[in-house]
Amino acid sequence: MEEPRCFRCDKKIESAATNESPWEMASGAVIMDGGGSFGSSLYDTLMDGISIRILVCDDCLTECKNKVKEQMRP
Ligand SMILES: [Zn+2]
Repeated sequence: MEEPRCFRCDKKIESAATNESPWEMASGAVIMDGGGSFGSSLYDTLMDGISIRILVCDDCLTECKNKVKEQMRP
């Protein structure tokens, strides 16, 4: 697996907990899982079973907050 880095700025992402990968518990970043979109020509979980995970650091999220759709957890 690739070294955990911010998807946008390439900053290295550290783990938030000992013995946990940043891919599972990121510090100063959020973990985003996606896939299953009919609109993508790269990933379609329903067709190929592959989903993707990316890490985005808090600095990038702050800088691009106007592009974030915030949703309340159901
Ligand atoms: Zn970043």
